[in-house]
Amino acid sequence: MSNLQFSFKNKAAVVTGGAQGIGFQITLSFLQAGGNVAVWDYSAQALEAAKKELSSFKDQVHFQQVDVTQKESCDQAVQALPWPADVLVNNAGITRDKSFGKMSFDDWNAVINTNLTGLFNVTKTLSEKFNPQSMNKRIINISSVVGLYGNFGQTNYAAAKAGVIGMTKTLGKELGRKGFTVNAVAPGFISTAMTQAMPKETLDAMAAKVPVARLGSTADIANAVMFLASEQAGYINGAVISVDGGLVI
Ligand code: NDP
Repeated sequence: MSNLQFSFKNKAAVVTGGAQGIGFQITLSFLQAGGNVAVWDYSAQALEAAKKELSSFKDQVHFQQVDVTQKESCDQAVQALPWPADVLVNNAGITRDKSFGKMSFDDWNAVINTNLTGLFNVTKTLSEKFNPQSMNKRIINISSVVGLYGNFGQTNYAAAKAGVIGMTKTLGKELGRKGFTVNAVAPGFISTAMTQAMPKETLDAMAAKVPVARLGSTADIANAVMFLASEQAGYINGAVISVDGGLVI
């Protein structure tokens, strides 16, 4: 599938978890649209692989190993930013799935710290480093269908992703007059390296639950992010865009 055509020339995005999976596709889409991207990711291995894969964009991309759960790490990354930011995509996330009875405090804390507190750390640290000239500042938070509807075995993840939606709506109210829009994207079943390793029957069963009869691609999510990041989406604020093929209709 081809990507939507937007121009992000002379604009810069920060993409957390931007070295692999959905975040990598978002990074690539911004680069292909002429933008600069700071990739903030925890995984040294993924950063190294992304650096190789994106070598043709080397003047447009800056890689930084960041742990979004640590405020000091976010501070260091902001200091190292080569460009003032126009767009922040809060994408980094993890899962530690278990039924509620089996879920440990560590499982709960790890997911809340990364998927919710991590967004606060990054957004708070970066908010003063946005391009002061821009009246099209964008924050796009990656939530999940699970944050809207819950899911068996994901108390921690559902709570964090629902929290992301509350944060999105509140920041949309608070930051709107400062030239920001703040929106969330809620992906459904997305095909990534992780799902590609699953048995075909499992994938077929997942696809059968989706009205459009397929899993989503990372490009489906990146396209929604690119639209929300564009100037054309300037009157969309505090929205949660479901990109799930109609999974929950
Ligand atoms: P991946 O695991 O493929 O990529 C996430 C990246 O974020 C990894 O490189 C990961 O590093 C990094 N990361 C994890 N913790 C931190 C941290 N503390 N600081 C900085 N970076 C970190 O995930 P996906 O692409 O599948 O998911 C991306 C987002 O989309 C997540 O927020 C996820 O919850 C959401 N989502 C995904 C869906 C799907 O079907 N894939 C469906 C709905 C929502 P490491 O490998 O070291 O952990």
